Amino acid sequence: MPEPFSSPPAEALPHVGALQVALPSPLRQLFDYLPGRQTPAGGWQPGLRVRVPFGRREVVGVVIRTLPRSTLAREKLKPIAEVLDEAPLPADWQWLCHFTARYYQHGLGDTMQLAMPARLRQGYPMAGRTFTQWQAINDASLDSLKNAPKQAELYALLRQHAQGLPAQAISAHGYTKEQLMALSRKGLASSRDVARQAGSRFDPRAGLLASPALPLNREQAAALAALHENLEGYHPCLLEGVTGSGKTEIYLQLIEALAAKGKQSLVLVPEIGLTPQTLSRFRSRFKAPVVALHSGLNDAERMDAWEAAADGRALIVIGTRSAIFTPLANPGAIIVDEEHDGSYKQHDGLRYHARDLAVARAHYHGIPLLLGSATPSLESLSRALAGDYRHLRLTQRPSRHPPARLELTDLRHQRRQGGLLPSAIKAIESTLAAGKQALVFINRRGFAPRLACHACGWMADCGQCDARMTLHRHPPLLACHHCDSRRALPDACPECGSGDLRALGSGTERTEETLTGLFPDATIHRIDRDSTRRKDSFDQVLKEVHRGEPCILVGTQMLAKGHHLPHVTLVVVINADGGLYSADFRALEHSAQLLEQVAGRAGRAAHPGRVLVQTLHPDDPHLGKLAEHGYGALARDLLEERRLAKLPPFGFMALVRLESPKEQAAMALAQAAAQALREWLANVGVAARCLGPVPAPMERRQNRYHVHVLIAADRRSQRQAAANFIVQWLEASREARSVRWSIDIDPQTLA
Ligand code: ADP
Ligand code: ZN
Ligand code: ZN
Repeated sequence: MPEPFSSPPAEALPHVGALQVALPSPLRQLFDYLPGRQTPAGGWQPGLRVRVPFGRREVVGVVIRTLPRSTLAREKLKPIAEVLDEAPLPADWQWLCHFTARYYQHGLGDTMQLAMPARLRQGYPMAGRTFTQWQAINDASLDSLKNAPKQAELYALLRQHAQGLPAQAISAHGYTKEQLMALSRKGLASSRDVARQAGSRFDPRAGLLASPALPLNREQAAALAALHENLEGYHPCLLEGVTGSGKTEIYLQLIEALAAKGKQSLVLVPEIGLTPQTLSRFRSRFKAPVVALHSGLNDAERMDAWEAAADGRALIVIGTRSAIFTPLANPGAIIVDEEHDGSYKQHDGLRYHARDLAVARAHYHGIPLLLGSATPSLESLSRALAGDYRHLRLTQRPSRHPPARLELTDLRHQRRQGGLLPSAIKAIESTLAAGKQALVFINRRGFAPRLACHACGWMADCGQCDARMTLHRHPPLLACHHCDSRRALPDACPECGSGDLRALGSGTERTEETLTGLFPDATIHRIDRDSTRRKDSFDQVLKEVHRGEPCILVGTQMLAKGHHLPHVTLVVVINADGGLYSADFRALEHSAQLLEQVAGRAGRAAHPGRVLVQTLHPDDPHLGKLAEHGYGALARDLLEERRLAKLPPFGFMALVRLESPKEQAAMALAQAAAQALREWLANVGVAARCLGPVPAPMERRQNRYHVHVLIAADRRSQRQAAANFIVQWLEASREARSVRWSIDIDPQTLA
């Protein structure tokens, strides 16, 4: 691997007859090109971006390999149109892309496209290079474009980019040099040369900290000391600390120690966790700039952040899932906060898991890896218990109030209002009376999950999915939460004409409405995807809640995780049963994590908390364990069950999902693929199992039929071999062209 941003001496370069280039294409293959006339200053090397003709367009790709000659006939090859970089993309980034593509059995070209900022994808140059920027001349007459539609389009594009567009970006948009020149001749566009500036470097002599570190309690100090012993080399570590035990303070002090040596820390946080509050906690601690990679960045800011990380200027990089692909010049440590969180797994396209990539990456760099959670994934917990990871624990909160235990309350044969039992309503009442805040957790948005006819039993179904429509009141409509289709509310039953249509069950809107009726003077905040659509609205609510006035929060898991809500002393869980009897073997783990995280919102500051959990199964042994002994104890039981059943993390899985608008097509292809895999496994003697095909849990979604084939094996290598076979078989299959399929390595859900 070449060093980041350095070039080998130009002499002694071997002859390059052809280049293999990774392109933005779903195909799992590279494409051969001739070098063309332009030779890059440092010679041809892997990691250089190039612009190449591809079909009828030009696209930006990355050189993967140089060859003395191609195996294809020379006249079939096209030359590279332009070399975009003087030095290759960072070596650690290249390594991670190769690793990711191989492990997740995904095309390298597509992987690289996803892993680079949009500006690099569009062909913009790296910092320090001069490039030609084109601008529209605005007040020109457009008459001359009447008969040149392409030029008119290009002119409109230039007008959208008032600051100008580099020539590379223009060709990435699919326009030719000729079209650009024509505009220029007509006096409609002009160009100038500009240099991309890199930002300045932080001077550590200015002092690292903007505000002092907190004095640690005994457990925190012991954990930090253990981390300090292992700052050099690959040292994976699980920090299992109850909610509110001060894990973040440990991250901050670890980052400080590394930054003092000029080393960078990469911090991953869940999607829900990268709030202005989190950021301000990092930013108010350090004088050194904290580079945040969040969805609010524009392309230029994202590119700047990427380069600041790649050349070592950024000492602290914090971001969600995709930030794992940020290159680092001087990596010091990778920290994954709430490592169990589901948002680290990407659920479409390249289905990677950022935590798992963090493990691979820390190993590659030879640096410490810190996984933190109050509710560790069974994957990480089992490795910590086996001694592969160092296991650090925080059992106390600085506030001294231990997390409240769950009080199970029986939902059976009891009257509820808006999903709430009388005992819960009473508890909310006394919480408000004491001047405190209550949080009602309900994992379902909308007013009610079903609309039914009381006369004939008809229920409102989605016409495109095997699912019920959810009733919404604000605004009033029926919505499918699986395909997002919407319908007006019917006035009468479409089957029998009866007007007696009833909303069954409760969602956040109904619970909010009930609470408003019960507590007309109380402030009630509803937090879900519908109520927080407006940018910043969630943050506004959090700010107000932080002021500490008594109120009721009603919300989905958006509220349940990560937020420090110091004035909440009561948590009510409307229904704890979602994950108890699911067919998905991870459902129980995930719902236990969620329950413990919700419960952890109560009693985080000076006041003890109470957690009421409503359930139809108060005698369920798993729920009982969670209530009485906490997530840690239940997780250890679940691990034992997984071990006996040879399920992950004691076995390895890959899930092939196939879908088609024709009911039979996906199933027929899945059957053929599964049979081919079984024969191959028997022939080569790979001990992997092929299960299915079976219809997916919700077979019809958006009028497409979904089928699953599951691969399971005791060893990762066996699973990889089997997955690789089925991917190649599907890629080669004619029928697979009319069926959409994908492979999910280490699936997090079997849905
Ligand atoms: P976690 O990340 O484990 O959920 P936090 O780091 O958010 O916990 O800590 C919870 C609260 O405790 C925060 O308000 C934090 O400022 C405070 N805290 C953490 N460590 C200490 C400490 N050593 N002394 C005093 N307060 C602390
Ligand atoms: Zn009816
Ligand atoms: Zn639907």
